[in-house]
Amino acid sequence: MKIAIVGAGIAGLSCAEMLKAAGHQVVMFDKGRGAGGRMATRRVPMPLGDVAFDHGAQYFTTRDARFAAAVRGWQASGVVARWTNAGDDAWVGTPGMNAVVKAMARPFAVRWNSRVDALRRLDRLWFLDSVADDGFEAVIVATPAEQAAPLLVAHDPAMATIAQGSPSAPCWTTMVAFPERIALAEDIVRDAGIIGWAARNSAKPGRTDIEAWVIQANADWSRDHLEDDETSVVDAMLSSLRAKAGRELPDPTKRLGHRWRYARPEGAHHGALWNKTQRIGAVGDWLLSPRVESAWLSGRMLADRILSISR
Ligand code: FAD
Repeated sequence: MKIAIVGAGIAGLSCAEMLKAAGHQVVMFDKGRGAGGRMATRRVPMPLGDVAFDHGAQYFTTRDARFAAAVRGWQASGVVARWTNAGDDAWVGTPGMNAVVKAMARPFAVRWNSRVDALRRLDRLWFLDSVADDGFEAVIVATPAEQAAPLLVAHDPAMATIAQGSPSAPCWTTMVAFPERIALAEDIVRDAGIIGWAARNSAKPGRTDIEAWVIQANADWSRDHLEDDETSVVDAMLSSLRAKAGRELPDPTKRLGHRWRYARPEGAHHGALWNKTQRIGAVGDWLLSPRVESAWLSGRMLADRILSISR
């Protein structure tokens, strides 16, 4: 089949890999400028060289044997490494968290900057409004639940209802670089003031030495301050980090905020969704749980279903 996948995060790519390996023609569309999705890395030019911040997923763990095998493959090709500071089974992309998705995306010539506004079905073919004129025999929606529901609703209302039933918690994130190491011995801070998680990004393997921190506000604070301006949010988060350090922090050389409106979904037990009559499906962490591994597994589960039907 000629299959369109909307969303080139790890879930969409994991599905795409298997479908392509089985001989299907896969075309991927993503509204982002480059690879990452919620496994994103922001690279910022600085006078002493670029500094990179993993401002989405911080690390991931492996519980499933299939995923563990994929992670060993990524380790062998140098796109992931263990980060034991976060746990014995904690992995990060190298040199940035987005390295995994970047490597997975390479064989697909993903069409970036391509936001799919709507799906249309005509003469048993799928058309993707505003990004492609050609028709596809199947379409897979691999976006966060909130962005999946409007694409699905006209074609499979039950799928859209499942997406609406797995809303995501938001997450305000601050990225900050300092001219010197700050007075915090630990590389990871959990639950301090409004901070849910903060990490010395520069302590992850393969990063540059510039002292760089990623600070994530907890879900309640992020929800209450979702529409606040970036400056006041970054101020509030830095003040929690200062309180944790117990002393003044040096003036940042760079400070940025990022609002994840749809960071972590509640999750569900469906795994993946597939309507075999219309040939429309959905994958993503929202169909399992808000983890990198779950997103990858969701993609594999849908590919398994499609391939078992077409065999
Ligand atoms: P995404 O990565 O969101 O990919 C979906 C893609 O769809 C995106 O690239 C987007 O641009 C694209 N898209 C959306 N709408 C459209 C459209 N209309 N047209 C075209 N493209 C579209 N997980 C962990 O395991 N460990 C962690 O420590 C961790 N921390 C996290 C911290 C934060 C702040 C966030 C945001 C997430 C975190 N997660 C963590 C969760 C993890 O990042 C996700 O579970 C996983 O990346 C989801 O992958 P996905 O492919 O389902 O979705």
